Amino acid sequence: MENKKELRTWLNKMELAHPLVIAGPCSAETESQLLKIAHQLKDTDATVLRAGIWKPRTRPGNFEGVGALGLKWLQKAKEETGMLTTTEVANANHVDLALKHDVDILWIGARTTVSPFIVQEIADALKGTDKIVLIKNPVNPDLALWLGAVERFYTADVKNLGVIHRGFSTYEKNTYRNNPEWQIPIDLQNKFPDLPLILDPSHIAGRRDLIFDLCQTGLDLNYDGIMVETHYDPDNAWSDAAQQITPETLAQMTVDLKIRVEEGDEVEFKNKLNTLRTKIDVMDHQLIETLGKRMRIADEIGGLKKKQNVSILQTRRWNEVLGKMILEGEEYKLSEEFILKIYKAIHQESINHQKKVIIG
Ligand code: PEP
Ligand code: MN
Repeated sequence: MENKKELRTWLNKMELAHPLVIAGPCSAETESQLLKIAHQLKDTDATVLRAGIWKPRTRPGNFEGVGALGLKWLQKAKEETGMLTTTEVANANHVDLALKHDVDILWIGARTTVSPFIVQEIADALKGTDKIVLIKNPVNPDLALWLGAVERFYTADVKNLGVIHRGFSTYEKNTYRNNPEWQIPIDLQNKFPDLPLILDPSHIAGRRDLIFDLCQTGLDLNYDGIMVETHYDPDNAWSDAAQQITPETLAQMTVDLKIRVEEGDEVEFKNKLNTLRTKIDVMDHQLIETLGKRMRIADEIGGLKKKQNVSILQTRRWNEVLGKMILEGEEYKLSEEFILKIYKAIHQESINHQKKVIIG
């Protein structure tokens, strides 16, 4: 897939004065629930109403969606509010039903993007369509798999494309339900700057208090829009209750978020600087995370040495590490002096950690 300006046409045609806002419940629950949320959203910045009709659950036994019946509710919400509609499709039959019910935007879920077979089935079912198709990142952190899905649609002559960043699952649970791994969408953006990129802070966060900051980071990184799960009674939502916010909160959030307008030299300079600074912030976060993980391994080594009664400092090993890192540093244009400085500091911290384990 080459980088084609045509990928942005659908977004440009919307002529929005702000980034695209897609909002609505995780799941369509009842007709009145969906209509009520749609009416609460229609006077906010949200131009697209989202609602899951078929819900892919990681484990069975959770609410699996109302099914095709919900498509009628989406259609009614569109008639009453004038909002565009979007839902997730996970097979050719879903596509057929969604098209029959005039859904405007189809999204491909994270559990679908992982499977080239299903992606191909859906791309074939949509061949040549003018509908907008948004492709969520796969659950695992694999840029090629994500881009492969985009390419399958592009090759099937589906040109109104975009991607949604919803984070990546990890075995170890941390702050986020799905780790953002910002570097992956940043790489994608560098490769395909004209492919619209939308942030799904809800599935990254898993909890509503993190949503605002995630959106701000996304906007600072030049994302084209956000998709936020929204419900009038978030705590009692039938799925993803902890991460949904009310339409009122969403409306306030879009007022508080700093949206960067690209106009004039001065503003453009500031925007570019801001984007680069946000990229540096992402890298710095990764550096600290990696250093922390490295020290945890040092702690384990400390434990082993204690058991075997081996001394902490092993000069030969340390010289080997240093030599290897100086060579690797050269490849990345990092001076020997710099590598020596940071590795001495890292080594010292490592020794301190081991000492703590051994001596207590
Ligand atoms: C959703 O948007 O409700 C959803 C199921 O998302 P994901 O595919 O990102 O898990
Ligand atoms: Mn959800």
